[in-house]
Amino acid sequence: MRQISVAQPSLLGNEFKYVKDCLDTNWISSNGKYIELFEKKFADFCNTKYAVATNNGTTSLHLSLVALNLQLGDEVLIPTVTYIATANTVTYCGAKPILVDVCPRTLNILPGEIEKKITSKTKGIIAVHLYGHPADMDEIQKIAKKYNLWVLEDAAEAHGAEVNGRKVGGIGNCGSFSFFGNKIITTGEGGIVTTNDYDLYEKLKLFRGQGMDPKRRYWFPVIGYNYRMTNIQAAIGLAQLEEIDKILKKREELAKFYNEELENLKDYITIPEKFSWAKKVHWMYNIFLKDGGELQRDNLIKYLSSKGIETRPIFYPMHVLPPYIEKKSFPNADLVTYRGISLPTHLGVSSEDVKYIVNMLSTFFESFKKTA
Ligand SMILES: *Cc1c(COP(=O)(O)O)cnc(C)c1O
Repeated sequence: MRQISVAQPSLLGNEFKYVKDCLDTNWISSNGKYIELFEKKFADFCNTKYAVATNNGTTSLHLSLVALNLQLGDEVLIPTVTYIATANTVTYCGAKPILVDVCPRTLNILPGEIEKKITSKTKGIIAVHLYGHPADMDEIQKIAKKYNLWVLEDAAEAHGAEVNGRKVGGIGNCGSFSFFGNKIITTGEGGIVTTNDYDLYEKLKLFRGQGMDPKRRYWFPVIGYNYRMTNIQAAIGLAQLEEIDKILKKREELAKFYNEELENLKDYITIPEKFSWAKKVHWMYNIFLKDGGELQRDNLIKYLSSKGIETRPIFYPMHVLPPYIEKKSFPNADLVTYRGISLPTHLGVSSEDVKYIVNMLSTFFESFKKTA
């Protein structure tokens, strides 16, 4: 039987060559030429002045918050629908993530809900570009300016997305990206922070390297972290970046093909949408059931799995998870998230695979219709 994974890395180019170079030259730790090369090339890709590479996308978020001076008792507005790292890194700082409902079309933080949640303790907003569709940065930036808040873009799932022609990662005060194995490009594990702000850049570097004074070795003016990326990770990252345009294009073609093939199932599902101001990238291709809730969704996941098709549920909203539970309802998040699944989205998914997946989906919905 066909086996189709939901995500997998695409190592298409110089990955092996650059990693071999690290091994051949003995530069395998967090010094070496690939780190700065990768940072420079990634900053260029995002049209930002600076980029600081880290060992994963959770530490790049935490490092950003530390550099933005987030303190005990502060509040940060985040969308309730996101990956848990967004909320956890705020908690790591002793601050409180304040959950905001999301846009039902894109699952991104809803600007109209943000202002209601601002208090005297609010310090900033984390705008997550979820599943590759950018958040509404123009509106978010307006609110941030009005209340003097910083904006951190969690772009872990959106390398290359744009808002009105501006690349994500360079719109807010800083942007955080992940290079985990299932992301658009990968370094195995890895992350990076992008910014145009020189002071922030200096702080990011300081806190990444244990807080060591760059002018006085083994002098530590602050408590820092070891969040450094290795030369081997950066070598893989550089090779991945050389191929990123191709990777984004292939993902876009796959999404178009899904759109076309799923046209006939529109009685049962809705397919992803896009705002006109957005250039979206295709991290995960999501579909949402029109009828039925979590049980029906989980039945579909099980059915597809029995046919060799791996999928995953849309993220649970933070307000239902034990560490962040709230009794209050978030109407859009509650309505949409339980109905959603992500279909296999990577360069290994062929057009034959898509046809097979869509066939299995229609078999599922047909049999459901008969028994209903
Ligand atoms: C993947 C991801 C992260 C964390 O990145 P890791 O590299 O897995 O630590 C943070 N935020 C979002 C939205 C993510 O998807």
